Amino acid sequence: MSNDSNKKIVTRFAPSPTGFVHVGGIRTALFAYLWARKHNGTFILRIEDTDKEREVEGSIEHIIESLKWLGLDWDEGPDIGGIHAPYIQSQRLDSYKKYAEILIDKNLAYADPYTEKEIEEFRAQADLEKRPFLYREHRPDNPPKWDKTMPLRLKIQEVKTSEWEDLVRGKLTAGPEALDDFILIKSDGYPTYNFAHIIDDLEMGVTHIMRADEFISSTPKFLALYEALGVDRPEMATLPPIMAPGGKKKLGKRDGAKDVLDYRNEGILPEAMINFLALLGWNPGDDREVMTINEILESFDVKKIQHSGAQFNEEKLAWINGEYIKKMSYEEQEAYLLKFIPNDIKSLPHFTNDMLHRITPIIIERISTGLDIEMMAVNGDLDYYFKFPKLSLDVLKKEEKENITTEENIKKVIESLSQINEGDWIRNTIKDALWEYATSVGRGSVLWPMRYALSGCMKSPDPFILAELFGKEGTLTRLNLALETLSHINNNV
Ligand code: GLU
Repeated sequence: MSNDSNKKIVTRFAPSPTGFVHVGGIRTALFAYLWARKHNGTFILRIEDTDKEREVEGSIEHIIESLKWLGLDWDEGPDIGGIHAPYIQSQRLDSYKKYAEILIDKNLAYADPYTEKEIEEFRAQADLEKRPFLYREHRPDNPPKWDKTMPLRLKIQEVKTSEWEDLVRGKLTAGPEALDDFILIKSDGYPTYNFAHIIDDLEMGVTHIMRADEFISSTPKFLALYEALGVDRPEMATLPPIMAPGGKKKLGKRDGAKDVLDYRNEGILPEAMINFLALLGWNPGDDREVMTINEILESFDVKKIQHSGAQFNEEKLAWINGEYIKKMSYEEQEAYLLKFIPNDIKSLPHFTNDMLHRITPIIIERISTGLDIEMMAVNGDLDYYFKFPKLSLDVLKKEEKENITTEENIKKVIESLSQINEGDWIRNTIKDALWEYATSVGRGSVLWPMRYALSGCMKSPDPFILAELFGKEGTLTRLNLALETLSHINNNV
């Protein structure tokens, strides 16, 4: 481990191109990014594609798009190059061979002469004897010369208890059974993750590794390799696992660990996503929850990352997103709405820019994500702004009292509202014009049919807001349509 505290901080995000990046992966990227940026260091993007069987086409582009969406820009990487290029492991095979030769020369690596069948037999024997299978117990006395078709293994020099310091978890230890002669280079010529990442981190000058807890069990092997190479190791920070809602198991694809770009499609804003991810396992030490990246950067400290699992909670993400939407400018809010209002609503008769402009603050007040807007549309909570509602007689009369009919009340509302000047048509004046009467006969029996006549919905903003929004003419037209509904039915009785 390096003692040079003045050394430039270098961190990296090193995803494998095995499909989309989910929140866990991006949280790792974010923490590595934050640590580098906080110290004016370097943040590297490296693609770890040595497991060719698990590779999924298009993943690299997808990873890059995800990081770019979130504004996690890197200083060196496969698309922009850099002084340590290339940044894709499959293009770095010569480096791994070079270090493999160094280890062979030091007599610290050897060719594995066994066939798969022979290894299976060793394993079966160990199972039979109820003890762990350890390759090092079968280490050949005179290994053949490595011809690059056999796996190359590290010769563990000293089988001992491993002890190391993790920046997040403090002192960690593992017994000697964690150490075995592991494969450095596979028979297909590709290095293992265990080998490749160490060489790359070394060559790229990485000072801090942030990664998931699943790598703790392999750390004794990494330490043995650093020792064999005779190099300082980077600092390691193990990030807390992200737990599925409910808290008992790790977040997996089945529990909602979805493609981070899906959130973009749902209207999650990049700054909200960053804010949410930063709080997954870290907090600023006070009760702030809505923080810009600069505020996060100011308070961020690897040493303040928590050990225990971080609870994944999409509702919190939506809440944070809602807070960011409320901070947008009016124009941005309108554009945001427009993006999520479905086309069938956009083609309604009264869909105008003016109406969109007027309803923007009302809708923004009620939503946290684009999904909420889509849901409002599905539930019929949007279209009444852009067309006259279809009314159900029963619903219209739902609050009718015995002493006065709904029809009489609506007539009274029309009469009072007709006297308001266009210029005074705002919610308070509208309310003042009706309040006394409504209170005298029972508010529900007046305000319910009024609100329902305006929206045609069981739930909507209050009738004064709606009336202001539709303007005098639009309001009176809707109220008259309700009257027509009532009289039409009455005439038919
Ligand atoms: N390629 C590894 C993965 O995607 C990265 C592990 C590391 O950061 O060292 O899981």
